[in-house]
Amino acid sequence: MDYQQLLESIYQEILPYAKEGHQADYIPELAKVNPDQFGMFIHTIYGETASVEQADTRFSIQSISKVFALAMCLSIKGDELWKRVGREPSGTAFNSLVQLEIEKGVPRNPFVNAGAIVMADILLSHLADPEADFLRFVRAVSGEESIDYNLNVAISEREYGYLNAAIANLLKYHGTIENDIESVLHFYFLMCSVEMSCRELSLAFLAFANHRRKFDYAGITLTASQVKRINAIMQTCGFYDEAGEFAYFVGLPGKSGVGGGIVAIHPLHYSVAVWSPRLNSKGNSVMGMKALELLTTETKESIF
Ligand code: GLU
Repeated sequence: MDYQQLLESIYQEILPYAKEGHQADYIPELAKVNPDQFGMFIHTIYGETASVEQADTRFSIQSISKVFALAMCLSIKGDELWKRVGREPSGTAFNSLVQLEIEKGVPRNPFVNAGAIVMADILLSHLADPEADFLRFVRAVSGEESIDYNLNVAISEREYGYLNAAIANLLKYHGTIENDIESVLHFYFLMCSVEMSCRELSLAFLAFANHRRKFDYAGITLTASQVKRINAIMQTCGFYDEAGEFAYFVGLPGKSGVGGGIVAIHPLHYSVAVWSPRLNSKGNSVMGMKALELLTTETKESIF
């Protein structure tokens, strides 16, 4: 498979969508990003790579960070984790409060905001230096030491983070989080603010694509079954209330973020990351979704 040629032709095919959608502006710092950018990087488990456009530009990974947090929480807590958070798709928006109220403070899954806020709480309780430890893990799994938080993005999100604060309050009311609300929110926003490029993300997610390889990064270890199960949760819950659409059109486990990034894996084949800041109404990158749909259409391969 000539991935380079394929990515170049995919890029040409998605150009008509270049002005569709709007970048996230509920986080003021993200509204400053030039929305007219696109990058894509694919990394096979055999070491082949291909890329187009701004594959080396770093962007705010936002909710993609929830996969890293889940890997850490599973490594630390094992199946105990599932007492605090579920693993069913939500069918609701990523920041919905309604379901959380009805289900008495137990988030549906680790990838809705409520679930990720619970994971932030768990990491705060169990790690010696959570901010440094999270970064150490992300750097180790991606093999890139210069990856960092963007404090401006984290602060900007906190300033307007009324909904996430409401979620954290509801969780605290139900006793699902142990630490004080402000520390949990700060750490949650910080994890979301990590900046990575498509190249770095696709390399990091090879660890999930190739579950037969030993998963052991900066002290975070997972069994092959745990990695496969994280992939299952990416498949069912990785795209907010558009997980069904993503399975239908793309057919790969993955995770998106409101920074416009999407990472997807084809188990035992490849890991691919795309980025373009303009989002559809569900918060997923318009060009990114289209590019991945074309990838599995042209290669005639998905997990289905
Ligand atoms: N930091 C964002 C929020 O909590 C993450 C949302 C996302 O990327 O889905 O709203």
